[in-house]
Amino acid sequence: MNRLFLSKRTFSQQAKKLQNLWPYQSLKLTQAREVLAQLYGFRNAHQYHSLIEQQTISSSKHTEQQIHQHFPLLVARLAEQQNMEGQVSKYIIKNLWSQYIASEIQQWKQFQSHFTFYGNLNDFLHNTTTTTIDYSFDGSPSVKDSIEAIGIPHTEVAQVLIGDQAIDLNTKLENQQQLSIYPANYANTHIKPCPPHKPAELKFILDVHLGKLARSLRMCGFDCLYYSQDIIDENLARLSAEEDRILLTRDIGLLKRSNVTYGYFVRNTRAEQQLEEVLSYYDLKNKLAPLSVCLDCNGQLSSIHKDKVARLLPGNVASEYDEFKHCQQCDKVYWEGSHFDNMKKSLSKIATT
Ligand SMILES: [Zn+2]
Repeated sequence: MNRLFLSKRTFSQQAKKLQNLWPYQSLKLTQAREVLAQLYGFRNAHQYHSLIEQQTISSSKHTEQQIHQHFPLLVARLAEQQNMEGQVSKYIIKNLWSQYIASEIQQWKQFQSHFTFYGNLNDFLHNTTTTTIDYSFDGSPSVKDSIEAIGIPHTEVAQVLIGDQAIDLNTKLENQQQLSIYPANYANTHIKPCPPHKPAELKFILDVHLGKLARSLRMCGFDCLYYSQDIIDENLARLSAEEDRILLTRDIGLLKRSNVTYGYFVRNTRAEQQLEEVLSYYDLKNKLAPLSVCLDCNGQLSSIHKDKVARLLPGNVASEYDEFKHCQQCDKVYWEGSHFDNMKKSLSKIATT
């Protein structure tokens, strides 16, 4: 772009607009005209005026495409001529041309900050190593909203540091900040590991796709709310909030819901690996209490005398076993042996890994 011939009318409008946009001490209208003339490739405003008079073709029409094409150059030129930050210059150009600018350019943001993601937060960025994202934004979004816009549910974040200082997720983001974002259980030379956020009383709620995991966790003695169908995301999130339950899911969007305080994105897709993953993440391997929760309904199991449940037992079970547990909620009876032997074997395997 050599010279951009704006109509005199547009030139005047932009000069007034520029006065309002100017980030430094007040700009007189004559000064604003000089800044614009130089920006559009003229020596000064006087040259612009004499040359525009000689233009035979109407210069009042500027297409979106033209502006789009000139945009980066105008931003760079204004920054250089006026010795200003690129972000400021971008903001001014964007606003000077707002009526012509296509939606693509409207996405250009005023500010930028830099987020470095550690450990398994990179799973959400499809990376295996520490990643830094330059995040552009307007206004003053919260750190939490910004991290979620990048693609990471807030529930996965255990610590946010600016320099050495830990900050709250609701802190407002400012221009040119360097943020370090850490998942739970992550440590390096700068930080100590931080356990995942969890409620005082450990309880879970699982989404419809994690039925096997729900059963396995119940087998380990954990309170797990699970509905195999007919529950919408909104209700899962609400129950998680109302009952202080950790929401386990493989749905990233669900964890981004603002009312979800406790949650975890289960990485593995196979049930046994999922159990191992969740027990490790929440450090539960030495807190297993098999035979305490009903696998079918999540009710509490309690010991019961054989005579009281004999009517519910099949075949010769009553003669072969002496220890029985009974679900207070659905009446199901459990006894040592059969599937419980297998369960105990698999749990002891998990506990030792
Ligand atoms: Zn039950």
